[in-house]
Parts: sequence; C-alpha cells; structure tokens
Amino acid sequence: MNRNRPAPAPPAGLGDPVQRLRGVGGALAERLARLEIHRIQDLLFHLPARYEDRTRLTPIGSLRPGTSAVIEGTILAADVVFGRRRSFLCRVQDGSGTLSLRLFHFSPAQRAQLKPGARVRCYGEARSGATGLELYHPEYRVLGDQAPSLPDRLTPVYPVTEGISQQRVRSLCGQALAMLRRQPKVFEPDIVAALELLHGPTPDISLAALESGRHPAQQRLAIDELLAHQLSLLQARRRVRSQPAPVLEARGDLLERFRAGLPFPLTAAQNRVIGEIATDLAAGAPMLRLLQGDVGSGKTVIAAAAALITAGSGAQSALMAPTELLAEQHARTLIEWLQPLGLEVALLTGRQRAAQRRAEEARVASGQAILVIGTHALFQGDVSFHDLALVIIDEQHRFGVHQRLALRAKGEQGSVPGERVPHQLVMTATPIPRTLAMSAYADLELSVLDELPPGRTPVSTVVVGQERRFDVIERVSAACRAGRQAYWVCTLIEESEALEAQAAEDTAQLLGEELTDLRIGLVHGRLKGEEKARVMAAFEAGEVDLLVATTVIEVGVNVPNASLMVIENAERLGLAQLHQLRGRVGRGATESHCVLLYQPPLSQTGRERLKVMRESTDGFVIAEKDLELRGPGELLGTRQTGLVDLRVADLARDRDLLPEVQARAQALLERDPEQAARIIERWLGSRARYAHA
Ligand code: ADP
Ligand code: MG
Repeated sequence: MNRNRPAPAPPAGLGDPVQRLRGVGGALAERLARLEIHRIQDLLFHLPARYEDRTRLTPIGSLRPGTSAVIEGTILAADVVFGRRRSFLCRVQDGSGTLSLRLFHFSPAQRAQLKPGARVRCYGEARSGATGLELYHPEYRVLGDQAPSLPDRLTPVYPVTEGISQQRVRSLCGQALAMLRRQPKVFEPDIVAALELLHGPTPDISLAALESGRHPAQQRLAIDELLAHQLSLLQARRRVRSQPAPVLEARGDLLERFRAGLPFPLTAAQNRVIGEIATDLAAGAPMLRLLQGDVGSGKTVIAAAAALITAGSGAQSALMAPTELLAEQHARTLIEWLQPLGLEVALLTGRQRAAQRRAEEARVASGQAILVIGTHALFQGDVSFHDLALVIIDEQHRFGVHQRLALRAKGEQGSVPGERVPHQLVMTATPIPRTLAMSAYADLELSVLDELPPGRTPVSTVVVGQERRFDVIERVSAACRAGRQAYWVCTLIEESEALEAQAAEDTAQLLGEELTDLRIGLVHGRLKGEEKARVMAAFEAGEVDLLVATTVIEVGVNVPNASLMVIENAERLGLAQLHQLRGRVGRGATESHCVLLYQPPLSQTGRERLKVMRESTDGFVIAEKDLELRGPGELLGTRQTGLVDLRVADLARDRDLLPEVQARAQALLERDPEQAARIIERWLGSRARYAHA
C-alpha cells in the first residue's frame, strides 16, 4: 500500500489563485497582480480595452489610410531599400490593388520568408507612405496551400503591463472563460452572457457601440460593479451604525449663549444643519455625516456647534485639519468662540515645543480641553483622550475614502464590542453633484449648506492673457494702495513642490522689483512651518499687502480684507481647484476680483474651463461642468472617491445608472444579503483580501 501517494488535487475553481491555471508561475502571478488580477475570476472582469476586427478580408483596392484591416495577397517584389532609414519593402497585390509592407527591423529569416510569389495574410493600419498605401510592421503570416479560416469573433485587446504579452492575457482569459462555462452557476446567467460577449464579440456587434461603453453587455456589468461599490459602503455604514454611541445633548442654554456670542446671526442653512447634527448626536448610534458646503459657506461654525453639543454632555471632540496652517487658524477662531463660554480648546501640532506639546496633551488626557484641534498626526501619535465622543474631519477632499475608513477603523479598534464608538462629521468644500456624492459617500448621511452668509458680493472674474501682465500688476498696485490685500498664486504643471516653490520665489522677486512700495510676503510648501505661519499671520494682520503663494493656500485660509486674486497659468488647473483658490477672496463686504492669467494659445478645454469660471461662482454649477469636461476621476481626485479603480463602469459616462444602482443596493441589502455579499466579493473581493496595506 503506497501511503505517500498524494490525493489528486481537486479541479481549480474560479475563486482560486491564478497559479492554478496552466503555465502560471510565481513571476507571472506577480505581474498579473499589478493588473489587480489575483484570482482566476479576476481575469473574467479584466475586460478588453478595445477590439480589432480581423473577421474579414478587405480588398486592397478599397483600403483607406488610417484604418486597420486584414488583407491577403501575393508578393510581387521584395527589396531592401535605402532611404532616410534602411527598410525592407514588399509589394503585395490582390487583384483589387497593390500596397507595400515596410519593415524597419528585419531578420534574414524574414527576408527568406517574404519572397516574390509567396502568399501572405497581414493585419495592420494602412498609411500613406512613399510608395502609396503602406503597412508598417504588420502582423503577417505566410500562407501555404490552404489558408486557415479567419477568426469568427472580434479580437480583444487587453490592458497589459510590462512582461505580459497580449497573447498571454488572451489565452489566460480563454482558460477562465472555459472554466466559467463548466461552472455556470457561479454568476447570474446575464452576467455570464455579458462576459462571454465582451471577451469575444461576434462581428455583427458594432465596434462603435463597444468603444462608447454603451453596449448593453457593458452596461449590465457597469451596473453590477457600481452596485458592488455601493453595497460595500452601505455595509460599512451598517456595521458602524449597529454599535452603540454616546448620547449627546446640549445642556441648558449653552447653544443659545453660543449663538448670541457670535458676531453674526447664523444663516437658515446653518441652523438647519446644526439641527440635523443635534438629532444624530442624540440618537444613540454613531453619527456618520458628510457636510458639504461651498467655500465660505460657514462650516467652521457648524464644527463649533457640534463640539459644543458634545461638551454639553461632558465629552470631548477632535477636529482634524489637512494642514498645520489651517489647524492653527481653526484654533484661533474656535478659542474666540468657545472660551467665553468656559470651554477650553487644545491645539496639537508637529511644530510645538516638547514642553508645550506635553502641556496640551495633559489637558486632553484630563478632559480639561473639550475640543482638540490638529492635523492627522493628531491620531497617529499616542495622544490619549479623556472621553472622545466626536471626530470632525475638515476639508475631506484632502483625505481619501480609504483614509476615512482607516481612521474610522482606528476609532473602532480599541473598542470592545458593545463599547461606544465616536460620532463622525466629515466636512468638505468640494461640491460634488448629488448623485455622485451618494455613490462616493454612500457610507455617510449628507447635509448641505446651500446658502452663503449674507453681505457677500460675488467675485467678478476676468480672463487675461500673459501679454497683459503689466496691466494686472498695475491692478494689484491700485488695490493695495486703496488699503486692500491681494494674492498672487503661482502654479506649475509639474507636480514638483521644489519647482513650484522656485517659481513662487522668482515671481515674488520680480513683483518686488515692480511694486517697490508694497509689502510682499511669500509662502510655499518648502518653507519651514514656523516661517509659513509667520508670513500668514502677518498677512492676516494686514502687515503684508501682497501674498505670493503656491497652491498651498488653496485650503481654508480666511483673510476677509483680501479682495484680489491673480492666478497664473490658470489654464493648467482644474475647475475644482480654481474654485477653491478663488474662494479665498470675496469673504468680506468689499467687491472682490479674480484675474485668471493664461499662457496663450488656449486649448479648447482650457478655453471652456476659463469661461465657466468667468460665468459662474456657484460651486455646484462648476462641479457639474467639471464632470462634463474632465470626468469624475479628476474631479474628485484619485484619492477621494475610492471609486476610481472602476474596471468597467465610468462615473461620468454611467451617471444615469446611479439612481437605479442606489435603489437596488438598498433593496438588495434588505432582501438578499447573501447575494449582496456575492456581488461585493466578485468585484472587490480580491482587493479587500490582497490589498497592499
Ligand atoms: P468655510 O465653509 O469655507 O469653512 P468659514 O467657516 O471659514 O467657511 O467661514 C467663512 C467666513 O464667513 C468666516 O469669516 C466666518 O466667520 C464667516 N461666517 C460664517 N457664518 C456666517 C454668517 N452666518 N454670517 C456672516 N458671516 C459668517
Ligand atoms: Mg473651512
């Protein structure tokens, strides 16, 4: 009896790692992982980027330049020719016409093969060359007596990466499809049909429909994929919401005294949103709320009110800002509002001296400070809270979905099941069209501040070419002489902080030579924190007239006396970013202006973008246009949606599917949680399991 004989391995299933496929070893598996292909079934969802029609022969005589086609003919002549570059040229004739094949790289074997009299079949793109129509480096095969039949399906062209050939991916997808046919019960029949179709469409299917992404098979998969994302975010929300949270209620007349102490009455929108938050905080389940409000709509007051309600129940809040600059500015504002009510605020930043930092930390640990403000570093160190009940994240567009979920997980970590989970309020100034917001933030409830505080005059915007730079400098001079302040924003295409900083330094220098009577300040990302803070403080105090800056000032900075902003190379920035930048002016009662300086010539999109900025100051209108002009990946920023790694769906193209997807996700979670789990698993299972930390 041979006890050592291994049991036969069970046949591979779609959920198994790709290594179970023939010919896939460790090295190839690693390369496939770069394409997000880990399991065999991931190959099924790795769909072709485009298709080639090789199902029929095109007579040479009817071939047009710029089109790709299969031709078949006899070689009339084959010679090495010496032009600007040496090449091997074959004349091919098929009865309807002649063309040339041109190879710049060729071997003796190829020369031997491609000789006069041989019949060849080629696929390639026809171009107008020196000899008339030419195919450069076509795929070709020399035909024997019997020509093999042409493929009966369109040829898929898959996204590949270095070290994996098109041929390889095609054959792996073929293996996965064969497996799918043997185990058809894994997916719904219409999903199977869509996958079959998209990996090998029959020639009657229009290439144009496939290229537009609008073919019903693509749309079926897009719905499924969007559904998977929606379900996973909704599930995340349910998980959190099922845990208990502290019940928080503003005690006594604290909220009234807060309102009375503010230098302005709250807008109706602000009161409404505070009401929504108060209801959430008192409900006993963790609040998960997104507050959307255009730049300058007054979100800071909302954060203060939420912290106040929390303090009313004796618990602590944390406010997380994306930059130290903004954390410090928030601290100044909130101390001003909360201290008169006897509530203490602590600030934790990376540049505090050790002793000061320890003192602040002690106030946090003892519970003396009811509100703690800092950057994300706040949560990275070992800051211990006395009784943290509310986490507020400001300017969410700087943090991604994954950061948000990670942060939440961290809050839940130490928490024993049955323990309280902190409430969460996320604030963002990036207006996102509502349907999109509901997808990107399906784990959050949505509040919108849709009203600006009164007394704001809309910023008027002009678009000016670089050749009129001197007029613009003149304008800056006039505004500052009239007692106002201005920003001059330098931008570069390169994502290099060093180059951008250099550009800002050069600009500050040049402007200094032109505007000798102005006090000019400079901030950019390469300055030390202290230096940046010193310049910003001077600008806020009115001791600097003109602030030359990089896009570091994009977020949150609030200096109401600044009424003019010049943005250089505005054509290079996206609408969302331009809108954010422009939001730094128009914060006071004086009429404000924004000058968008561009470098001619403008591209079509560049012109349209600047036109949108000139015509609208409404963040939501601008966001809609941005979506039209650029697509959501860019609009939301790669880090933001968590939806950008969509395989099939495209948020811009498939927006009209979103309402249906949202409704179906809700219903499915109620009715059939197991099916919901299967859908999440098929699209996101790999990612969750094999996520690179
Ligand atoms: P954002 O929503 O961009 O964070 P802020 O909270 O910084 O806006 O508010 C912008 C400016 O508007 C601040 O100077 C703030 O004090 C002021 N502000 C906020 N609410 C009101 C209001 N109801 N009436 C007048 N000014 C307000
Ligand atoms: Mg703000």
